[in-house]
Amino acid sequence: MKNIVSCGDKEYQLITFDWEFVDSCNYACSYCAAADWMKPKFTKSSSPAKHKIVLARLSQVRTPFALELQGGEPTLHPHLFDVVSEAIQMEFCKTVDITTNLSRPLSFYKRFDVPLYKGLELTASYHPEYATDAYVEKCVAISQFQFPKFSINFNVPDKKEHWDRALEVIEIFREHNIKHTLNLIFATDFYTPEYTKEGLALFEPYIQETALDEVPFHFSDGSTELLTEPEILRQKLDRFKGWKCAALMFTIQPNGTIYNTCTGEEMPMGLTNERLFRTVTCPMHHCPCDTMYYFYKEPQ
Ligand code: SF4
Ligand code: SF4
Repeated sequence: MKNIVSCGDKEYQLITFDWEFVDSCNYACSYCAAADWMKPKFTKSSSPAKHKIVLARLSQVRTPFALELQGGEPTLHPHLFDVVSEAIQMEFCKTVDITTNLSRPLSFYKRFDVPLYKGLELTASYHPEYATDAYVEKCVAISQFQFPKFSINFNVPDKKEHWDRALEVIEIFREHNIKHTLNLIFATDFYTPEYTKEGLALFEPYIQETALDEVPFHFSDGSTELLTEPEILRQKLDRFKGWKCAALMFTIQPNGTIYNTCTGEEMPMGLTNERLFRTVTCPMHHCPCDTMYYFYKEPQ
């Protein structure tokens, strides 16, 4: 039997900062992973204005990085435009990605349709419980903007009552050539998705069709296989506990603290390359997001 001798790409050196930009959201999805700490609306006390300190720290980074603004719902932050425009002009910032539930009016997103935001990626999450006509119409309209890049993060519904609508919306995205990636809802402490064979069979072709780039796995017989995320999950190849890993993702909390997403190690004020590029021993049961598959890892 052949064993995996390494996974990921040694050349992949892009640091990802995953900023929990706000701890509030105007939606209440039943499967929300942050349901226990999410507040219904933005308040100064819940998300103090730490963004200036975070931006000052990021401006000192001297290696290419991607900045992902998550939440909660990041568009609730009153300084969103200031933060994005400042970050996107930093020498080493390669992309800024905002993941939004698209609940703001179209005019709000239209403000990003200027050359300054050509490095911005706007990702609209599809939440089956909020799949209104207004959501779909906004997706179609934004996809026709010149800037920023636009795509859909499509949460595949587990509940039968949402299947027809989801299939209908997928067809609209296909018709309008709107980039979309289908993801299964993952289990949290508060929600266990109840996917059935019947439901998965309906969405499987679309999951395969929209799977993100392939990740290299190297085997003991010298072979290499390129696997997509659904294949990795199906074969349970997302588990590397105890392996050596580049661990290039860092979480920024709403209070401004920055820590290594995998190890939980808090970063000092200066985000030097020496601090950012440190091989770790994987402490996690599995990689919790697809970007992490690309980080180079091998057994100890
Ligand atoms: S939109 Fe996102 S953050 Fe808001 S409740 Fe739904 S899953 Fe949670
Ligand atoms: S969970 Fe983190 S440390 Fe573990 S293999 Fe994945 S990226 Fe590496």
